[in-house]
Amino acid sequence: MRRVLVLLVWAYVACAATARGEEDSCGPVNIAPGPAPNGARVRDYAPIFEACVNGEGESRLAIRRMSVDGNPLILTVDPQSLHTSLERASCWRCEATSDGEQAETRYIKALHPPQDPTRPPALVNAGLIHGVGVGAFVTGDLCPSRKRLDRAFFEKLAAQGRGAPVTLAVSGGWIARHGADFAWLREKERIGALAITWANHSYSHPYIRRLADSRNYFLRPGVDVDREIFETEKLIIAEGETPSVFFRFPGLVADTALLERIRDRHLAPLGADSWLALGLRPRPGSIVLVHPNGNEPVGLKLFSRLIDAGAMPLPLRPINEAP
Ligand SMILES: [Zn+2]
Repeated sequence: MRRVLVLLVWAYVACAATARGEEDSCGPVNIAPGPAPNGARVRDYAPIFEACVNGEGESRLAIRRMSVDGNPLILTVDPQSLHTSLERASCWRCEATSDGEQAETRYIKALHPPQDPTRPPALVNAGLIHGVGVGAFVTGDLCPSRKRLDRAFFEKLAAQGRGAPVTLAVSGGWIARHGADFAWLREKERIGALAITWANHSYSHPYIRRLADSRNYFLRPGVDVDREIFETEKLIIAEGETPSVFFRFPGLVADTALLERIRDRHLAPLGADSWLALGLRPRPGSIVLVHPNGNEPVGLKLFSRLIDAGAMPLPLRPINEAP
């Protein structure tokens, strides 16, 4: 009897310690993905803009709050590195801030790049199209597709060196149908083969064949921009990953009002100056665009050929370094 009592006391103390330990652990939160993509685990999702500090005196900007499996979390951005992380809300002291107050941070400057007067107010390819410095920023769009992920492209990337950086502009529609492919990508990250930055490519990726750009994509009537942004972010989070601050418009098409909407949600529009399948060759600092979703094998072939010929600017760099 006494033995049982001792065991019970021990179990109680151990559990209490674990529970306290969890509360105390204030590092970035890791979400364990479920068996199938399911954004419903992420609730009360809302945009915020708050300046936060933690017990160690570190500061971050919080851009979303939510609860994941009942735990209150915030999505935070390091205002200098642009690195994002999911954090326990209870570990940070936050208060409302504004773009004006944060104007000198690299993050807010990245959201509001100086306008290039030589560019027309084009609907196509607005936002960041070229990065600073040398090398190339490889980006892959995962628009909704029934085809399998082009895994050979990622193997080729991974062969360029440990932790090869790649930005994937993923649509919620793609994640919803590609649980196994998403898990495969996550595993590549876990073993250190790839370093993936997750950009948002909308949820439904509206597109009507042969319709003019000016009436297509996000310029279709009735597009719910917030829903397109947030439902995709929720799925990325439920799948154990962290959304970055980058948003790529479907078709790279947007107007001034849409650009403003995206920036209001504290996302940086991401274009590209080297869409390989369109014959745009990369130069140092290029943002390279391919589609590893099965819909554009010619771009992937070109990528592979450029790498083999030594014609891809190196090193490959993470998109957070581009603005
Ligand atoms: Zn797309």
